[in-house]
Amino acid sequence: MTREELLKQQLTDEQRKILSDCSALYNRLPSDLKTKLEGLMHVFLHEVAFEVKGFDKVTEVMRICVAAEACVLILGRGYNSYWKLKRVKIWKELLKDERGEFAGWAGRRNVSLHWDSVLYGMKQGNDNCNLILHEFAHVLDQADDSQAQSIPVHEGSVDRAKWEEVIAREYPKIKAAYKEGRAHTIDEYALASNAEFFSCATESFFERPKKLKEYHPEIYDILEGYYGLDPLPWSRAEEKRIEQKALEREKRRFIRLIWMGVSVTLMAVAMFLAALEIVSDDFFIYFYPVWFLLIIWSQTKKS
Ligand SMILES: [Zn+2]
Repeated sequence: MTREELLKQQLTDEQRKILSDCSALYNRLPSDLKTKLEGLMHVFLHEVAFEVKGFDKVTEVMRICVAAEACVLILGRGYNSYWKLKRVKIWKELLKDERGEFAGWAGRRNVSLHWDSVLYGMKQGNDNCNLILHEFAHVLDQADDSQAQSIPVHEGSVDRAKWEEVIAREYPKIKAAYKEGRAHTIDEYALASNAEFFSCATESFFERPKKLKEYHPEIYDILEGYYGLDPLPWSRAEEKRIEQKALEREKRRFIRLIWMGVSVTLMAVAMFLAALEIVSDDFFIYFYPVWFLLIIWSQTKKS
């Protein structure tokens, strides 16, 4: 299948279910971007080889989850941004080298990911920590020139000077904030090396867009320009969905209370009529089952 044909492919319902169960970011995406994502994922799954270390085999969940969140990064850029990418290796245990343990690693051809960290990062959509976004941002950073230095555009690019300027101005601010014990929207890990600024800023851009835009608009703007995406409205839409769900829950609780009141009143009226001998004891043979069913129905029915 050609790349053009792959870009037109859609996911199956089962594959979409994997994403809606595992990925907070996927659930936030507007539907037009979800459609675009599905095409890019097909190219990714066709061109990138998956391997496992410590697991028996590569699972569908692994392939779909990694492809989806990796392709969110290129929704506005197109698949060519991953032109060198060849292999993703999923690790059961944390990766290790002489410096210690870590959750992921990325060059422009190969990416290694610790699976439990991947799942945790996907599930928590706003904790500023997402291993897939982080490592694939490293891939993008190196795609232009093999250099992991947080400038994802090549030397001759018209945006190059702007990137250098923003980093020269903003990176020291992150250093200063953590040195003085203040918080910064971008995680302190950004200070581990020059390469980590772009990956950590990318995590904030997708996971905490509101804070990044409010407190560090220049970083937000340059990332918005680079990714060709504005994730801020996605979070607003999600907030609205959460509010709407809470309202519906409240409404259902209120209606259940009303029905409970109606049931209690009915019982009181029936007892009152029995006390006045207006209804006979036989009446309750029919009344109790109907009353009982009414309570069950009112407590289980959806409004
Ligand atoms: Zn990193």
